[in-house]
Amino acid sequence: MNTDLHGGYQLMKEIVSLVREADLEQCEIMIFPSFIHLKTFDNTINGSGIVLGAQNCHFAPSGAYTGEISLEMLKSIPVKYVLIGHSERRQYFAETNESVAQKTKAAVEQEVHAIVCVGETLEERQSEKHFEVVGLQVRTALEGLSAQELQSIVIAYEPVWAIGTGLTASADQAQEMHAYIRGLVQESHGSPAAEAIRILYGGSVKPANATELFSQADIDGGLIGGASLKAEDFLGIIRA
Ligand code: PEP
Repeated sequence: MNTDLHGGYQLMKEIVSLVREADLEQCEIMIFPSFIHLKTFDNTINGSGIVLGAQNCHFAPSGAYTGEISLEMLKSIPVKYVLIGHSERRQYFAETNESVAQKTKAAVEQEVHAIVCVGETLEERQSEKHFEVVGLQVRTALEGLSAQELQSIVIAYEPVWAIGTGLTASADQAQEMHAYIRGLVQESHGSPAAEAIRILYGGSVKPANATELFSQADIDGGLIGGASLKAEDFLGIIRA
């Protein structure tokens, strides 16, 4: 929930112009602005290769859910990706593993790529429950999806204690959890699905720590919060 209409537009223009200047063809870049920016940004990113995503959605196709945004609405912009179960949604808006699963299933049905966010709190890590917590989050979100349906899903591991705090998981901590998540996908959906699924790391990623994180075997990219509010920093991370 950063920037107003004007500020968001300026930031997006800066990002698009930096991305256009740089040679970033091997990189898939997605932007997940607040809902108010989606339509304007769809025009701004035109031809830049950047893909548009939303920060949340409702599971129902339409109906009496005042204040909510459906996947059909998002698709009409058009939006290709949607974040589901970001830790702030879980923490402040009562999202549960079950509601995350419901939205993930709806996104698969509507052919919008879900970025399913998982991650443990500091207390859960300190009490060594992090694998149990993340394991349950991943298993519940993916339950009932076929290996083919899984192809449209991305998982983002974001330890809650690292989001917006300046604390980053060490490359070893992140890699350990990513390997664990990939192992879970292998158990539930087989090796080809586990090898193909993209698992992003999020939590205080900056240009200075991005290269080390992204060079880990099971880290396929990043989910960037604060650093994306500065176009130069965001570009530095994309280059990494
Ligand atoms: C986030 O908001 O998902 C996030 C990862 O934020 P930050 O990069 O600021 O930690």
